[in-house]
Amino acid sequence: MDNQEEFLKVAVRVRPFLTSNNPQRQIIRIENENTIHIDDSEHTITSQYTKVFSPDSSQEDVFTFVSPSILQTLEGYNTTIFAYGQTGSGKTHTIFGTGWEDYNYEEKLPGVLNQGIIPRAITNLFYNAKEDIFFNMNLFQIYNEHLYDLLLDPARAKPLRIRENKNEIFIEGLNERAVKSIEDCISLLSEGVKNRAVRQTKLNNQSSRSHSIFQFYVNSSKGNFKKSKLSLCDLAGCERYDREYDMNSPQVKELKNINKSLSTLGMVIHALANGKREHVPYRDSKLTRLLQDSLGGNTKTILIATVSPQAEHVDTTINTLIFADRAKEIMTRAKRNEPDTQNSNEIILNLQEEIKQLKSLL
Ligand code: ADP
Ligand code: MG
Repeated sequence: MDNQEEFLKVAVRVRPFLTSNNPQRQIIRIENENTIHIDDSEHTITSQYTKVFSPDSSQEDVFTFVSPSILQTLEGYNTTIFAYGQTGSGKTHTIFGTGWEDYNYEEKLPGVLNQGIIPRAITNLFYNAKEDIFFNMNLFQIYNEHLYDLLLDPARAKPLRIRENKNEIFIEGLNERAVKSIEDCISLLSEGVKNRAVRQTKLNNQSSRSHSIFQFYVNSSKGNFKKSKLSLCDLAGCERYDREYDMNSPQVKELKNINKSLSTLGMVIHALANGKREHVPYRDSKLTRLLQDSLGGNTKTILIATVSPQAEHVDTTINTLIFADRAKEIMTRAKRNEPDTQNSNEIILNLQEEIKQLKSLL
């Protein structure tokens, strides 16, 4: 990749107030498309990102931002997109959205408005794929460091194991389904989302405490590239311990696992963006271990940090921005490596100059 900045984009999306929210004072101001400002009695923070989406921005605006990286999977690059934020801040809205399950993809009726990144990515990839391209997909959940196939009836889904061979890391026994059309894909996806809902009720709002991951494999029958992969991750809520929890309760175990995997994700992004290729702590969580081949290397990574506009959530909002900031800092630091390349360019220019002079002497 020519430039480290391309490796990682960090965006923040602010959810609008919902009708169910208490009327509240504005603590978030979006100064421009890169700058967000938080101001309540205790904090004043201004921070910049690749992009800041205001509460008015549409699902289409968000897709416009991510689509160039998504379309590059058709050329053999991997792309990984994360939605990171507290429960209720808009991660699922951003990644899945609504209105895609009964939308008529053949007639392209209106109603596309609320569709999130996954259904838009699917339609765009099918529309733009040349004849040699074919797709596979899977959908799974990581809950408490256990992996579950969401394309299976939850009653039958057992925790799956991660395996590794010479070529890849994979989930043993995970359904990887061939999809021939948008409709194929959407119907599998909606089956998976239903299974997720069943799991959620079974285990007390589990989905906010689990990562849901959709992977879309792009294969070329011409062998133009080894398969590439689009990974879209609706991460577990990043809220912190509630002091009232009993420290030995199952809830605390869940939270520890979530915090561990989210902080490992942060450390992996950090290590990679600093140009490290050894000592990247992929193995410290299931999430990063699995995404090892889709973080770094030929992968474009986009982090979308979602935040609530509500004053009562300001602490978690600030923590979310700190996570995004760490990733962003890395971006600028990585960019500062550029003098090295300039130096080598300078050396070349000097050498060329010297050759010219020597030639003129001949
Ligand atoms: P999370 O997945 O982070 O827990 P959700 O995506 O489920 O949060 O969002 C919580 C609620 O807020 C949902 O009812 C969702 O429709 C709504 N919501 C989230 N983001 C937006 C947005 N940008 N515009 C309109 N509604 C939103
Ligand atoms: Mg959600």
